[in-house]
Amino acid sequence: MLVTNHVLSGAVIGAAVRRPLPALAIGVASHFALDALPHWGKWETEQQFLRVAVADGLTGLAAMGVITRAVLRTPGNGRAKLAASVVLGMAGAAMPDLDKPAHIIFKRKLWPDAVNRFHGRIQDEEPHRFFSHELVAGAGFALAAATLIARRGTNR
Ligand SMILES: [Zn+2]
Repeated sequence: MLVTNHVLSGAVIGAAVRRPLPALAIGVASHFALDALPHWGKWETEQQFLRVAVADGLTGLAAMGVITRAVLRTPGNGRAKLAASVVLGMAGAAMPDLDKPAHIIFKRKLWPDAVNRFHGRIQDEEPHRFFSHELVAGAGFALAAATLIARRGTNR
């Protein structure tokens, strides 16, 4: 699944649980759960993969920035804790995918081989699922995150 969608789902988790460390842990677990669901992928060439991965990585980073800013501007007393929870939810949800860029940029593997093997084995990818799966999931996560953050802000 696109890392952007992992970031958005991590924001939903963080806004829902409102506790930073559980948000981080659930975020990591959600990554593997979502990667096991049908999603877009199965690239024909490494070049095609990299094109998508770079655009997706930058979009995911931008999403983290926009969401963090939105949470920090949310009115209410629990804003700092909500922000920490949302940021760690997003970080946890994106974390398993950091291995590939770390390997390309720093020539370092972040996770043990067993984790990377498991991560690779659970993927349910097809190249025709961008609009039907990836975009729908992204829109749903973004809407849920925006709704929860707005509501959590005013509730506290
Ligand atoms: Zn993944």
